[in-house]
Amino acid sequence: ALRRRTASWTGPGRTRDGHPVAVLANVQDGAGARAAAAGSAAEGVGLFRTELAFLDRDSEPSVEEQARIYREVFDAFAGRKVVVRTLDAGSDKPLRFAGPADEPNPALGVRGYRIAAQDPGILDRQLDAIALAARGSTASVLVMAPMIATVAEAAEFAAAARARQLVPGVMVEVPAAALLADRMLEHVDFLSLGTNDLTQYTMAADRLSAALAPLSDPWQPAVLALVARTAADGARAGKAVGVCGEAAADPLLACVLAGFGVTSLSMAATAVAATGSALSEVDLDRCRRAAEAALGAADPRTARERAAHILAG
Ligand code: PEP
Ligand code: MG
Repeated sequence: ALRRRTASWTGPGRTRDGHPVAVLANVQDGAGARAAAAGSAAEGVGLFRTELAFLDRDSEPSVEEQARIYREVFDAFAGRKVVVRTLDAGSDKPLRFAGPADEPNPALGVRGYRIAAQDPGILDRQLDAIALAARGSTASVLVMAPMIATVAEAAEFAAAARARQLVPGVMVEVPAAALLADRMLEHVDFLSLGTNDLTQYTMAADRLSAALAPLSDPWQPAVLALVARTAADGARAGKAVGVCGEAAADPLLACVLAGFGVTSLSMAATAVAATGSALSEVDLDRCRRAAEAALGAADPRTARERAAHILAG
């Protein structure tokens, strides 16, 4: 049944029987946000990768300059939701002005929120800039921290965001965060599963290694198990749990994620129509059955085949 009305899909995201699953865009700057707003039916921005806006900088942009860049994205999605991720510097996204220059094992090093622990000024100034840009904007602005591994980090980030009237969430990209999602949710308003890194850290397989591609697959049942328990914890807490990794851009997997109970899917703008369309063609109950079948598979290929079979039926 999948893949029929792709081109004409206009949103909002929902299953055939009307269960809402917000379909959002991943962006990295004002130009990309304007293109996503004009060229897709995205309901908002589920992941604004702020570090990508600064990859070419030698020094940290001032609060005012950061605010101007953030405001461009908010203006492109006026009246809609925009989730701003604080700097996820390090590893595959190195910044010259944040984080250590040289580490033997950068994916397991001082990256993402861990930089804030060593240099709180960078995070404080970025949150100030986001709050400044949000003031007077009609976008509904939320902030989230990447690479959270402990409940204490989530609590600390939530306090810093709330002090600036910003709605806090954290990314679930480290298995430790998924295992304690219920306790993370005592501090933050939402969670967002970063399935690229969650897969990397669950499978202990470098996301950039072609040789390890079969392990770096979000259909790995171990990854699905962490997604399922995180979504269930969100449902129990009555809080949103989204997915903003590449998994959301795979229409079949998007239906499986909806079946686990995730409340939003955020992806490259070019994938929005295919995902939205796929969701609109299946009932939630079928998504749940596909999710259950995928979870019980022994390997990613079987998981995908089982889900495809149920979703097509
Ligand atoms: C992820 O890890 O899934 C994610 C969305 O973040 P990034 O790809 O920017 O690391
Ligand atoms: Mg990530």
